[in-house]
Amino acid sequence: MKQGIHPQYNKIKAVCTSCGAEFEVGSTAKEVRVDTCSNCHPFYTGKQRFAAAAGRIDKFNKKYGIKE
Ligand SMILES: [Zn+2]
Repeated sequence: MKQGIHPQYNKIKAVCTSCGAEFEVGSTAKEVRVDTCSNCHPFYTGKQRFAAAAGRIDKFNKKYGIKE
């Protein structure tokens, strides 16, 4: 490898902002933040998160007086 032209490659922590999990990754950046990771993404957990969708349906039903 040619000297003096490559950025420093560090072992850093990648932090998931959804579940707070930390992973050790190699990167030239000082810090990496991700929105989702293999610890909390529905694809890996097999669970769905309905929080946002349920809130909207409730709001719609309330607005038009629909009782479930
Ligand atoms: Zn996560």
